[in-house]
Amino acid sequence: MDNKNQNTMLSPHFSLWEMTRSGTAERLGIKNIPNDEEVENLKLLCKNVLEPLRERFGRIIITSGFRCESLNNRVKGVATSQHLHGQAADIHISNRETSMRYFNFIKDHLVFDQLLFERKLSNGCLWLHVSYRARNNRRKIGVVSLK
Ligand SMILES: [Zn+2]
Repeated sequence: MDNKNQNTMLSPHFSLWEMTRSGTAERLGIKNIPNDEEVENLKLLCKNVLEPLRERFGRIIITSGFRCESLNNRVKGVATSQHLHGQAADIHISNRETSMRYFNFIKDHLVFDQLLFERKLSNGCLWLHVSYRARNNRRKIGVVSLK
């Protein structure tokens, strides 16, 4: 898939651009372009998790979706990250109350593989990481601290 297709919609409210954009990739000139299989995974994630969440709460902000290997390395993502396969998204949370609403809604109403509060220890940043895969979603929940 090439850059011309960045406007492609993956689902009614989420574009390929939104699910692949990255300030780090732009700054470093990394082409963060998913292959067809990764695009299909992004579509499943949008359809099954992000769209229902948006329908319930209104606009949500995705801070990281698909990451190619070089981008994942630069942002120090783990080597097995589901972002590498287009199966995961990080969702911006503005405050604790909102984050608990998102968390509980996904946990109680949706199918997902992993639902994690991720906190970066160096700057205290907190976000919600959610993933979905085509088969065998594990419904794992937890809190993860990253260096
Ligand atoms: Zn993540």
